[in-house]
Amino acid sequence: MTSSTYTKDLFVGRRRETREVMIGDVGIGGGNPLRVQSMTNTDTRDVRGSVDQIEALAEVGCEIVRITVPSIRDAEILPEMRAELAKRNVGVPLVADIHFTPNAAMLSVDHVEKIRINPGNYVDKKKFEVREFNDADYAREIEKVAGRFRPLVLRCRERGVAMRIGTNHGSLSDRIMNRFGDTPLGMVESALEFLDVCEGENYHDIVFSMKASNTQVAIQAYRLLAQRLDERSMPPGGSYPFHIGVTEAGDGEDGRIKSAIGIGALLEDGLGDTIRVSLTEHPVREVPVAEALAKRAFKIWVADAGTTSAACITPYTPDPFGYTRRASKMLNLGGLSVGAREPVRVELDLGAPQMNDLDDWAAGHAKSIAKLRDVECESLQVSTAGALEPEALEAVSKALTAAGLNQPLAVACRDRTDLDADNSAGFAALISRIVVDVRNDSTDDDCAAVAKFAEQVDVALEWRVCGEVADLSGPIRRAATASREARLTRLLFSTKTSRQNHAARLLTAELAAHGLAQAPIVLRHSIGVDADRERATIDMAIDLGAPLCEGIGDLVSVSGSLALDQSTDQAYRVLQGARLRATRTEFISCPSCGRTLFDLEEVTARIKSKTDHLKGVKIAIMGCIVNGPGEMADADFGYVGSGVGRVTLYVGKEVSVRSIAEDQASDRLVELIKDSGRWVEPA
Ligand code: SF4
Repeated sequence: MTSSTYTKDLFVGRRRETREVMIGDVGIGGGNPLRVQSMTNTDTRDVRGSVDQIEALAEVGCEIVRITVPSIRDAEILPEMRAELAKRNVGVPLVADIHFTPNAAMLSVDHVEKIRINPGNYVDKKKFEVREFNDADYAREIEKVAGRFRPLVLRCRERGVAMRIGTNHGSLSDRIMNRFGDTPLGMVESALEFLDVCEGENYHDIVFSMKASNTQVAIQAYRLLAQRLDERSMPPGGSYPFHIGVTEAGDGEDGRIKSAIGIGALLEDGLGDTIRVSLTEHPVREVPVAEALAKRAFKIWVADAGTTSAACITPYTPDPFGYTRRASKMLNLGGLSVGAREPVRVELDLGAPQMNDLDDWAAGHAKSIAKLRDVECESLQVSTAGALEPEALEAVSKALTAAGLNQPLAVACRDRTDLDADNSAGFAALISRIVVDVRNDSTDDDCAAVAKFAEQVDVALEWRVCGEVADLSGPIRRAATASREARLTRLLFSTKTSRQNHAARLLTAELAAHGLAQAPIVLRHSIGVDADRERATIDMAIDLGAPLCEGIGDLVSVSGSLALDQSTDQAYRVLQGARLRATRTEFISCPSCGRTLFDLEEVTARIKSKTDHLKGVKIAIMGCIVNGPGEMADADFGYVGSGVGRVTLYVGKEVSVRSIAEDQASDRLVELIKDSGRWVEPA
């Protein structure tokens, strides 16, 4: 199977074809490059401050800038802002961000190149009401929405202004929530109601977004939207472009990881025409992250444009619009349970041991791993540069144990020539599994020899299938056949390729085709020696996070140029970002905008310093009471700006402490966490 309804190709990076929508002089979609955009976080009425920030964003390469327009007074400021931008010769197109205020939208149309509306609150007011709507009620509500929205559509059409229909997972209307729940389907339905009005008026300058802070939900919603749009009649020039992003991603490494997982997975599906990375940091810091994501995707799309897809005989069939973990068999690898319902495990690949100085080599690694605070490395891997010698292996194992590294030990070797069953006494007691490469030029005999070795030595075997995605099917088949013939039961598979996500899908489908549907899958990632920290973070997040969000992967094995504690830490952050394994507090913090009522970066840092040891607790830090409570999605606790110097605290979606002074709010938040029984003292 080489195509699916939401992506052009499951095994190759092919961009979805879309119509071009012009935002002033900047085209989104069509043959245009992926556009990078951001949003100011100044008070919109502070014209000088806002223009300074727009200018700073344009200078670092931001191609489209959004500003919040919460009221008519803010809309009335726009001409002055435009005049100041013109004076400074800043021509970047502007987008007015509208929530709840259709009248501000109508006024803004004359002064911006694009309007962003949120279908959850353009007309509907979110009251968190549970109410049944029969079909007639529902139709009446939609007609009411259309009546309020149509004038904006007509105005945009008349002025040649584009529009983003931007759904947010956390701010769906009560009407949508009651009928569809806060699901990807609800998000898509919410947007399509607004599209119906636009198409009814023959207006097509539309861009869509489906943002969520939950990476899985964001990915699923965009995919579902792509499919639903393709089922409708095609607008002139192709389907509508997508603005992609993960909302309230937070700051620092976690914010980058969450963004890269969601955005990166979508780009690898070919979905996405413009990117906004939402970080709780100064907006200029969002731009290089978005650029790195765009660059990576563009490289893949260009490289894959002329390639043929992998020929896979069995369809790849997980639900792209929901999460189900791929069913796998549980294996005991040196005391570590891997697969089935076990958490996705984390392994560090230490590379080749320094045989002439083993004690120092092991002690150095132990020192680095000892720096880990909240997480632990659960398995280790070493590689041999030649034949697998029992004496050498025993020495490595002893050195690691002496340094305090008692994790199960996997050993990677190149091929059958490194394996000699007659010289393998004691292997099974020393190592948890062997990892052997299989390539396009590995023969049936090569594979049979490896499988026979694993059977004789009685050790678990991981086949590491190496090559480009289109070339992986043959080696997988040969490895699977040899394993079946040797009756191996402790078997894992991984891939070593430049396209981990596409390869993981192909591996899943091929294993099913060869009777090994339940063999656990190892996801591998190696950090390049020349990778800077930010790029390394992004690559790891996509290579591991995209398949994980699709339910593939039982163990992640990381290697490369980062310090071992950093690699391990990042792997766990990816697992948390993919919503699979919570090992620390999850912060859902908005990027801030002109509505923000406090210094979000500073407050986020303060709250983090008190609470970042609370494994699995989700804390939202939101800049304003207008959108914050709706958009904090599934947070356990919320810290929401509710007036100048005032904060309202939430437990779940319920207000717990209303309008407390800001200087008391973070301590009160800690008390609330304690009262709820979720507090633990920091170690
Ligand atoms: S929640 Fe944050 S980003 Fe969203 S509107 Fe309020 S202040 Fe702006």
